[in-house]
Amino acid sequence: MIFAIEIRGVVQGVGFRPFIYNLAASSGLKGQVSNNGYGVLILLDATREKVDGFIRQIRQNKPPLSEIDSIKITQIKKTKSFEGFSIQISKSAKLLSSKIPSDIAMCEECESELSDKTNRRFEYPFITCTNCGPRYSIIKNLPYDRKNTSMDEFIMCKKCEAEYKNPQDRRYHAQPIGCHECGPALSLYESNGKKIESENIIDEVVQTIADGRIVAIKGIGGYHLVCDASNDSAVELLRERKRRPSKPFGVMVKDIDTSKHLAYISEKEEALLNSNRRPIVLLQKRDDYALSRYVAPNISQIGLFLAYTPLHYLILQKLERPIVATSANISDEPLCRTYDEIMGLSSVWDCCLEHNREIVNGCDDSVAFVENEKIFMLREARGYAPLYLKLLHKTDKKILSLGANQKSTVAITIEDSVVLSPYIGDLGSLSSVEHFKSHIETLKRIYDFTPDVVVCDKHPNYESTKYAKELKAQNEVIELVQVQHHYAHILATMGVEGIASKVLGVSFDGTGYGDDGNLWGGEFFVCDNSSYKRVGQFKYFRLIGGERAIKEPRRVALSFLFEIYGDEAFKLNNQTINSFSSSEIKTLYTVWKNGLNSPLSSSCGRLFDAVASLLDIVQICSYEGESGLLLESLYDENITEYYEFGVQDFEIDFSQIAKQILVEKDVHVAVSKFFNTIVEIIYDMYKKYDLPLVLSGGVFQNRVLLRLIMRKIPDVILPEMFVANDAAIAYGQAIAALNLKTL
Ligand code: ZN
Ligand code: ZN
Ligand code: FE
Repeated sequence: MIFAIEIRGVVQGVGFRPFIYNLAASSGLKGQVSNNGYGVLILLDATREKVDGFIRQIRQNKPPLSEIDSIKITQIKKTKSFEGFSIQISKSAKLLSSKIPSDIAMCEECESELSDKTNRRFEYPFITCTNCGPRYSIIKNLPYDRKNTSMDEFIMCKKCEAEYKNPQDRRYHAQPIGCHECGPALSLYESNGKKIESENIIDEVVQTIADGRIVAIKGIGGYHLVCDASNDSAVELLRERKRRPSKPFGVMVKDIDTSKHLAYISEKEEALLNSNRRPIVLLQKRDDYALSRYVAPNISQIGLFLAYTPLHYLILQKLERPIVATSANISDEPLCRTYDEIMGLSSVWDCCLEHNREIVNGCDDSVAFVENEKIFMLREARGYAPLYLKLLHKTDKKILSLGANQKSTVAITIEDSVVLSPYIGDLGSLSSVEHFKSHIETLKRIYDFTPDVVVCDKHPNYESTKYAKELKAQNEVIELVQVQHHYAHILATMGVEGIASKVLGVSFDGTGYGDDGNLWGGEFFVCDNSSYKRVGQFKYFRLIGGERAIKEPRRVALSFLFEIYGDEAFKLNNQTINSFSSSEIKTLYTVWKNGLNSPLSSSCGRLFDAVASLLDIVQICSYEGESGLLLESLYDENITEYYEFGVQDFEIDFSQIAKQILVEKDVHVAVSKFFNTIVEIIYDMYKKYDLPLVLSGGVFQNRVLLRLIMRKIPDVILPEMFVANDAAIAYGQAIAALNLKTL
């Protein structure tokens, strides 16, 4: 009898076929294995009993990077007989739902070969095998085969080819393999574009970094800007050239031991740092932290990650000190992916370490943190992307969701899953919008996808909304669905946790477009996956100057001072007031009073800003989320009191809390009581509604707040292994488009 076994999941590019081959060979089974558009297809000429035993073995011993979603067995007519067991060359199929593997850090075996003088890949900066190396970033099309990746232009030498063709070899069908002789190679450039000839390029780069200069390094999903993390003037120079005054930089270290000299690391954090996904992990700085004070100024956390490619590893091994490794871009522009793009940044770097393996799909570093033994993501990209998220039901609808405007991601639906792009960034410039469109094209190309539904935010000025309307204008047949931002937030967390029933959703973030046209961001919903009702919010306040108020916490604080004191606020001797000139105050008062360019908002993120200004912690932010990070650093666990607050007509009036903060003498007390108050407000609503509590929104990236809520409400539902910020929106939108009853 012949049985067809179809296995879906992450089963391509992870050594699945050779694993099957070896398993069949060792059991003396006849048949064949091949990749198809869905995953892996096995034909076995055996009894049902043997097939069941075979599948048990697959589940038990599958390759480390593989993930099995489903196994389907069907009996087919015996039309041919098999000699033995063979691996068939891939056929490309039209309908594709196979999962694309993520880019994976160098494995231990490759690492030891890299350092072995007798190995033919000794110090080869692109060493890889079936268990490691680039995947998503080099893939052009499915199925995942060398000809469908940017490795197609490298012709394998005899030795590599022999490994590639030998099912017993660790490099059997490892698509990105190469060696000194045949694979990708390094080159080095000056910022004027002149090629630097050098006997040993890595030594040259190491020396340049050690000299305090800035090097652009092409990695897996894009370029980094790199400098010596312990050299004050180097880090300062990078800040100046990158126009990034204080936003913390990520630091790359050679190994876990080095990281322990810089931060306090729990077991869970160590495992995450060391995992083959190698995200940047936010950690508590050690007291004797010995890096430049410009790396992560004024905050208690540091983002560390371990070298994840052989190239980074070789550099760090020789340099013997940590490096700042930050995405090569200017402020909110997209990450540089090509030589032309990095040349556009040549005023920032002194030399560029280039290589000739094309990055097909750009992918930033991922960022994560651990709180209460749970992993939360701040950015899901390299090592995680593309992300496959669940839908509760299978759908034939082809939904394209375009996400929000900041921390943009896009998603498509395939059967019962949502494929989410890596983090794209903020859609604040022409090039970032181009970048956003190219991510959509990538998903469409790889999955041969044509949308019949396009979902976007309700904000009329979001670039993603404009693009959705463009798509609709180009093709009338497309259904356009707009989903309220904060509801999409809650749906995303519900989706990750597999919940569809009624919950109390708390969506606290920066700002998002509300159903009444105001800027929401401190909302309580009673909702399920098909409808929502707003049951609470922070009482509206004015964002004086609109967009400017988002960058200037003092404008939010001023709004509350005007509300509390009216024009008496002019006379206050207060740091918020003093940060303006007296004529500015008078103008802003008129602006506030008449509601000129001062939209109403209920944003909880802005309340963090208000507190940071009232306590003179920061008046003007230099990066998004700065006030929250600074407040976190001032929290004192020993202070358990909170401020009085009232909930009236489902509104919480923050000016009542602001008044109490104004008379507080100690900053630590004020900050701690503020955090405790936010937790009490959530707890109060939770008790009132007695429903499962679901949280989402950028405010819940705040570690102190998360810790306190998990302590107070242990069964709170959070987006574990996922994001709380706007990168979650595309997923929530897809769920809404499938289920929403009324829009
Ligand atoms: Zn390897
Ligand atoms: Zn070779
Ligand atoms: Fe949001």
